[in-house]
Amino acid sequence: MIRPRWLAAAGLVLALGAAFGADLGGMRARAADALGLSHQLDFALTGQLTQGGYALGQAPRGVRALSFGGKPVPLAADGRFLIAFDRDAAPQAQLLAELAGGDSVAVPIAVGKRAWQLEHIPLGPRPGTPPSEEYARLRAGELARINAARSVDHAVDGWRQKFIWPVHGRISGRFGSQRIYNGTPGSYHSGMDVATGTSGTPFVAPADGVVILAADSPFSLEGRLLMIDHGMGLNSAFLHCSKLAVKVGDVVRQGQYIGNIGMTGRATGPHLHWSVKWRDSRLDPSLLTGPMPTG
Ligand SMILES: [Zn+2]
Repeated sequence: MIRPRWLAAAGLVLALGAAFGADLGGMRARAADALGLSHQLDFALTGQLTQGGYALGQAPRGVRALSFGGKPVPLAADGRFLIAFDRDAAPQAQLLAELAGGDSVAVPIAVGKRAWQLEHIPLGPRPGTPPSEEYARLRAGELARINAARSVDHAVDGWRQKFIWPVHGRISGRFGSQRIYNGTPGSYHSGMDVATGTSGTPFVAPADGVVILAADSPFSLEGRLLMIDHGMGLNSAFLHCSKLAVKVGDVVRQGQYIGNIGMTGRATGPHLHWSVKWRDSRLDPSLLTGPMPTG
């Protein structure tokens, strides 16, 4: 546990990338105690310190445990770790490190703000008919399966990898985009939509992992749903598939064929909806991959 005796993390050096989307390679987070007796803790964070982004770090020697957002962050045997920032993360986050001697240091992290794509609709939200009891029961069961799948951590190393796009195509919906109905925000888009113009296009695993859900009979909204755990609390979901090529428990490798895109569930046309979560935080998949390759 982190002890109550806090040491201020002064002298923190965080060199943010000049422009959004820049890779923050080699960024350093240092912590020193209140007396200026520098612990020179160098967490070597790399990644995207921005809403919907993530950071891979290397815990310096002498760090016994980490926590973030009030929860322990596991350290791999080599001291590597992962933290990530929700779409609506606050501008300041804090990584707490417990040192071997029992002291704790707080490492402040500035989380960049994103300008999400907002669409203002001068009408109220579509008046939906209230869901039937039967649908409510069905939906509760589907959500329970999704939550159960996400609740188990697997010892896989996909989280260390630079992700690849599961399929190349036109981005038909962006992570974080949101409609505002007469001033009332609707829920934001939770993933990236990629369309190839047809159903049946194969897609691949963006990183190594274990299949944690493979719903062959379509869910009401997600349709045929495939979920992969990449380890350390990071997982992917692939929605609206026409076909799944793997089953629960399968270990998949980055680039391996895992299914075909489609329009099962609630979809207006064939596309792959790819969403990524770290614990309860929704992430922007394009920050893990970089831009969609052209051509
Ligand atoms: Zn979508």
